[in-house]
Amino acid sequence: MTGELMVVGLGPGPERWLTPEAADAIARATDLVGYQPYVDRCPTRDGQVRHGSDNRVELDRARLAIDLARAGRTVAVVSGGDPGVFAMAAAVFEALEKDPASRTVAVTVMPGISAMMAAAARIGAPLGHDFCAISLSDNLKPWDLIRRRLTAAAEGDFVIALYNPASKARPDRIFEAFDLLRSLKAAEAPVAFARAVGRPDERVILTTLGAADPAVVDMATCVIIGSSESRFVARPIGEPWLYTPRAAGARA
Ligand code: SAH
Repeated sequence: MTGELMVVGLGPGPERWLTPEAADAIARATDLVGYQPYVDRCPTRDGQVRHGSDNRVELDRARLAIDLARAGRTVAVVSGGDPGVFAMAAAVFEALEKDPASRTVAVTVMPGISAMMAAAARIGAPLGHDFCAISLSDNLKPWDLIRRRLTAAAEGDFVIALYNPASKARPDRIFEAFDLLRSLKAAEAPVAFARAVGRPDERVILTTLGAADPAVVDMATCVIIGSSESRFVARPIGEPWLYTPRAAGARA
């Protein structure tokens, strides 16, 4: 008997940013699989089995979820944000690619609000024109490749959203990334440090590339770095808005 494998995005944190589809998947799953803090975010239900793990064993977690579904269980693999953005969906498909016999399982990927979208919504519309997302984690790729992509993003004048900008194991990478970007972009380029967006400990800092202090960054932060078109709009009270115009080359 074949069960069901749902790959579910939980959004950035608050329940109001969880889609009804995702909430339904979590409620009807017989098994929850995921990085422990994400599993902890799901309400408990009698009879539901929770398989929390640390965040280094994505492929093992994906295999476990596939095996459970093949044994007839209804499995929700949970990720923060969107499951397809630096998260579990790719690990699930990698496991399916490696094991042709497992491909009979029914898989549904359920999207979620990704951190950059939540961060952008908080501060205005910084992703209003071409942008790219880069993970600064060098667990799964060499730092040289990250440097190459940062360089290309700056040269292409993309707005850049940085995920996984720092961790205890790699506290210096964000400083290296900013040094590199400062050598390639204008000092006035707007920067937003958006931390724990949507959660009680949310903190958003607006600054510029020249003035930014990357020391404020932690693993719960999404960093948005503007293009040459991105700009602040001052308000009489409070922080300015930050947006990127729909038309490139529109700056007066
Ligand atoms: N799948 C997730 C990203 C996983 S990578 C998504 O689509 O959002 C984890 C990184 O996401 C963190 O290091 C941080 O850069 C970012 N992130 C996740 N939740 C966040 C939040 N509430 N506020 C700001 N950044 C967040």
